[in-house]
Amino acid sequence: MSFTNLGLNESLLKAVKEQGYTSPTPIQKQAIPVVIEGKDVLAAAQTGTGKTAGFTLPLLERLSETHPKMGNKQIRVLVLTPTRELAAQVAESIKTYGKYMKYSSTVIFGGVGIHPQLATIRKGVDIVIATPGRLLDIAGQKGIDFSAIETLVLDEADRMLDMGFIHDIKKLMKMMPKEKQTLLFSATFSKEIKQLASGLLKDPVLVEVARENTTAEQISQVVHYVDKSRKRELLSQLIKTKDWRQVLVFTRTKHGANKLTKQLEEAGISAAAIHGNKSQGARTKALAAFKANEIRVLVATDIAARGIDIDQLPHVVNYELPNVPEDYVHRIGRTGRAGMSGEAVSLVCVDEHKLLFDIEKFIKSPIKKVEIEAFRPDPSIQAEPIQNGRGGGQKRGGGQNRGGNQKRGGENSRNRSRNAGNKQEKKKDDTKQGDGQKKMSRKEQKNSNASVIGSRIQEKLDKLDKRDTKNDTQNNNRRKR
Ligand code: AMP
Repeated sequence: MSFTNLGLNESLLKAVKEQGYTSPTPIQKQAIPVVIEGKDVLAAAQTGTGKTAGFTLPLLERLSETHPKMGNKQIRVLVLTPTRELAAQVAESIKTYGKYMKYSSTVIFGGVGIHPQLATIRKGVDIVIATPGRLLDIAGQKGIDFSAIETLVLDEADRMLDMGFIHDIKKLMKMMPKEKQTLLFSATFSKEIKQLASGLLKDPVLVEVARENTTAEQISQVVHYVDKSRKRELLSQLIKTKDWRQVLVFTRTKHGANKLTKQLEEAGISAAAIHGNKSQGARTKALAAFKANEIRVLVATDIAARGIDIDQLPHVVNYELPNVPEDYVHRIGRTGRAGMSGEAVSLVCVDEHKLLFDIEKFIKSPIKKVEIEAFRPDPSIQAEPIQNGRGGGQKRGGGQNRGGNQKRGGENSRNRSRNAGNKQEKKKDDTKQGDGQKKMSRKEQKNSNASVIGSRIQEKLDKLDKRDTKNDTQNNNRRKR
């Protein structure tokens, strides 16, 4: 099947051809015609499946079909994304595919000045791609008018929920007319996503290209068991001996990302870190250098890496396993993009066995274990609670997806879950010391780390969300006064 049968106009087909795409990916085949028809869509699609073109191409087609007169600050299409990087990438895709069309678009996110964004919207734009926090700030200042909105896209909706954007999204929805087309894209189809979808979508067409909660099949996954203290050495060796030229490496913490970057550089491997404490400029620069093959390794935390789109990324390394099994799927989704094959390597130490177990359960398949003789773990080393950051008690606020006055979102919500885990781990640690290095029983192990985080996280987030909503209301009231 070629793109010509999908109902796209000549300008779009020309732009697609220039990209070298010969045939639509499964999600594009399914989504493009129904989006053009104006239907609501609920799509379960992982990154790397071509989902961005799956919604941007038909949206551009629809824009070209009518020419309504737009009022001041009115927009026609809104795409909400969880991160700045993803917003920028969606905007880039729109620019690429729409290069032979007449339309205007802009990207709105926190961490940069709000006034130029307000001025751009005032001048009139067709498409806005935004993160929820900053958009809500702008909407609160009456800087944008949603009354003429034709299509709303929620991209990576699962991650927006993970990051605590649900209240912002709900507030934004209330400002929009009921009559509009809504498209919801999510890597996983959790209960929460289905709930959100049922409130937002009307008779949606269900588009599902991969089985629920499974990893993309063209990615080869392997686990190397290794002692924690020897992970860096093993990583350097893998990079050097296998001559990996472009590797995305995940660490659990920002501090860990910085430390590893420094160590790799010292070992003669060019590397840069990308995480929530880095300025937007530094992140963009690191990403550009990585894409241009000027640096070999990009070390990232989960939130910072979300939405990074690098064509044909060959290697992803889990230097540390994520606390949340879903993040494993998101991480390795960075490789094996749109039909390309990729390799995902996880370096797993004894502390992380439970996390690995949870991941394998989540993806419903065991991951191949390959022993590297020289790095065979020392069996006398006992599992220790996982440290998820320095000191544990992180301050709230300052998440990477908001400008100035930030409350939820960004790496903070993730830190909250980590802190929830830390407290538990600390308690367990104390017990352990009291018991004189007693090995954890099966039951204790089951309750440790990830499962504790997993089961408590929602409860914690709900509590914090309630508190944030109260704060939001107080702030709004103060603002009104
Ligand atoms: P996405 O899942 O939207 O992040 O897209 C993943 C990658 O696939 C991007 O780098 C796109 O440029 C690429 N891509 C999208 N559609 C196609 C296609 N039909 N054929 C080949 N590559 C594609």
